[in-house]
Amino acid sequence: MAAKIDYKIRWGMAIDLDKCTGCGACTVSCQVENNNAPNVDGTDKLRIVNWLSIYRLENGKSFPDADVAYLPLPCMQCGNPSCVPVCPVIATEKGEEGAIVSQISPRCIGCRYCMAACPYHVRTFNWFDPVWPKGMEKTLTPFTSTRPRGVVEKCHFCHHRWTFAKEKARVDGMDPYKLPEDAYIPACVEMCPSGAMVFGDLKNPEHKVYELARSPHARRLLEKLGGEPQVYYISRREWVRNLMDNHLPGETGHGKAEGGNHG
Ligand code: SF4
Ligand code: SF4
Repeated sequence: MAAKIDYKIRWGMAIDLDKCTGCGACTVSCQVENNNAPNVDGTDKLRIVNWLSIYRLENGKSFPDADVAYLPLPCMQCGNPSCVPVCPVIATEKGEEGAIVSQISPRCIGCRYCMAACPYHVRTFNWFDPVWPKGMEKTLTPFTSTRPRGVVEKCHFCHHRWTFAKEKARVDGMDPYKLPEDAYIPACVEMCPSGAMVFGDLKNPEHKVYELARSPHARRLLEKLGGEPQVYYISRREWVRNLMDNHLPGETGHGKAEGGNHG
C-alpha cells in the first residue's frame, strides 16, 4: 500500500443512514448532472450505468424486530485508491488538489483493471453507446462530456462544480482553496430531500463533515482494507454500524445487504 499523502484539502462526504429513505433522488440527480443516459430497463445489468447506487440493508430479524436501512454508494474517493496504480494509461488519478479520484474517459482503453481492483464495485463499463430517448437529449448539460462505449466511468464528486466554485471564489476575492461550507457540493448532496448527505473538506474544522467523520457513530466501508475511503456513514443503530465495519459472519455484525444495480 502506498504511503498516505497529506493533501491540503480532502473533499469527503458523511451520509446519515438513519435519515436516508432510499428515495433515489441522489441517483437521479447524479445521472442528470453528469449526462448519464436514462436506464430504460433496470433489470438489464449490462446496460445500466449508475455512478451512485443504493443498497438495502436488513437486520435479518422478523417482525416486530425487523429493521432496514438504505446505503447510497458513490465512489469513496479513496485516500489510497487501489484503482489508480493498476491503470496502464493513467486514465484515473488521485488529484493533488482536493484528493478526488478522477476518471479521464478519452484516455481510457477499456481494460477494466480498475474495476477488478476497486473493492466497492462503484465503477461501470460502457458496453454500449449511451442512448437518450427522443426528447430527453434536451436534458444534456454542458458540464460533463458524454462517454462512448468501451470506457469505464465513475463518480468524481461533480468535479466541475469544484472548478466553478474556485473560479467564483477568485472573482469574489476569496481564497479558492479555503471555500466556505456549501460553496461546493455535488449534485446528489444538493438534491437529497432528507438532508442525509453532508459534503465538505474533511480537513477543515469549519465544515460540518469534519466533525461528522469523527462521530462515534461514523464508520467507513471496508476500512480494514486500508483504502482510506473519504465517504463516512453515520448511524445510531449498532447493527448498521457493524455492517459498515464489514464484520464477517460469526463476528459481532448482523444482517445482510441486498440490491445495487451495477452492470
Ligand atoms: S479501464 Fe480505463 S481507467 Fe480502468 S484501468 Fe483500464 S485504461 Fe485505466
Ligand atoms: S471506491 Fe473504487 S473507484 Fe473509487 S477511489 Fe476507491 S478504489 Fe477507486
